[in-house]
Amino acid sequence: MDDHDPASLPADVALKKIITAIEPITANEKVAIRTALGRILAEDIISSINVPSGTNSAMDGYAVNSIDLPSTGTAELKMLGTAYAGKLFTGKVNKGECVRIMTGAIMPPGTDTVVMQEHVERKHDSIRIGSDTKAGANVRQAGEDIKKGEAVLGKGTTLTPADIGLLASLGLPDVKVSRCLRVAFFSTGDELKSIGQPLEDGQIYDSNRYTLHGMLARLGVEIIDMGVICDDRKALQIGFEEAAAKADVLITSGGVSVGEADYVKEILEKVGTVNFWKVAMKPGRPLAFGKIKNTWFFGLPGNPVSVMVTFYQFVQPALLHLMGARHIEPFTFKVLCTSRLKKRPGRVEYQRGVLCRDNSGQLVVEKTGGQGSGILSSMAQANCFIILPMESGNIEPGTVVDVQSFFGLM
Ligand code: AMP
Ligand code: MG
Repeated sequence: MDDHDPASLPADVALKKIITAIEPITANEKVAIRTALGRILAEDIISSINVPSGTNSAMDGYAVNSIDLPSTGTAELKMLGTAYAGKLFTGKVNKGECVRIMTGAIMPPGTDTVVMQEHVERKHDSIRIGSDTKAGANVRQAGEDIKKGEAVLGKGTTLTPADIGLLASLGLPDVKVSRCLRVAFFSTGDELKSIGQPLEDGQIYDSNRYTLHGMLARLGVEIIDMGVICDDRKALQIGFEEAAAKADVLITSGGVSVGEADYVKEILEKVGTVNFWKVAMKPGRPLAFGKIKNTWFFGLPGNPVSVMVTFYQFVQPALLHLMGARHIEPFTFKVLCTSRLKKRPGRVEYQRGVLCRDNSGQLVVEKTGGQGSGILSSMAQANCFIILPMESGNIEPGTVVDVQSFFGLM
């Protein structure tokens, strides 16, 4: 028994089709660097200065000329004054002389080495040093972090706090990033109620719009929540057209499984060009992808876990690509699995797992509870996806598996 379906599309092929179809936007905007976190850089950053700008001390100590460092025994040096960070010592240091120096202070002319204050015997206006300091020690060279003219950050970088600090160290108040994407979404289904309305028999609260809102918020896009739309031809057509008029991307959930989707398909064929795929994955088999006028369209399955899996595997990489990002796919790494996992060959599976430490402190992964595509609580308990490849059968404890940490999913 396996899950092979010759008509289905491997997940990596589906992603490739999506990425190939989408051309990144070129429009960009200048933003203050503090607000650029998580945005996609739209220009190469070349440094116009050396960082640090001058050769300076990495320690509190004494700036000396290395010719005065004794190879054995000790040497006595006359102290001329003090160099502070931000306050230059301008005098010239000759042989047999030194300057008291603080961390970050520019090295006075004639010095090339800092002897740590802990290695110095201080007398009134002289010091005694030993043979334990190497020539050039404890000094940060000008441009050692970044050289003038060096390429610092490339176009397509997803800006991190370190990148923003780096931009600040170059003295840049703002950067060019790709413009903010407008992403609309709505849920479909007659059984769905929005929060605040009482549930009647057979109804459930719409959770997908909230999950989507959370996942989109982390990507820093402009979010347009269009609510719930009933399984109704007219209402759906209005929804699709309204989204196409105001958003770069429309994401819907529900209504794309085979059979029930006939009129969704019918309407989408009328208003745009949309492919309905059966992807060889679990959860998340049905997926629609295409365009309504100039708006990219993703029709995700309705089950709450399927929505999250298909969002992270297809929609997030697609949005990042559309924004011009270079790294778009979730970071995957290998770790030992301590549980037995049920799996049939034929589809790639995204099971929910918990990354934790075993008794010896090694990072391992174990399974969470129910793996059904409607069990959102298991997704909430998990902190990673365990990815089992298409051909894999059951996994025995002790097998190395691929995982994607939810922290790495932004
Ligand atoms: P569908 O893809 O429309 O057949 O939906 C598959 C399953 O997911 C059904 O059990 C739906 O009730 C459920 N579902 C669909 N949309 C949502 C939603 N927005 N929130 C929670 N569950 C949903
Ligand atoms: Mg439905």
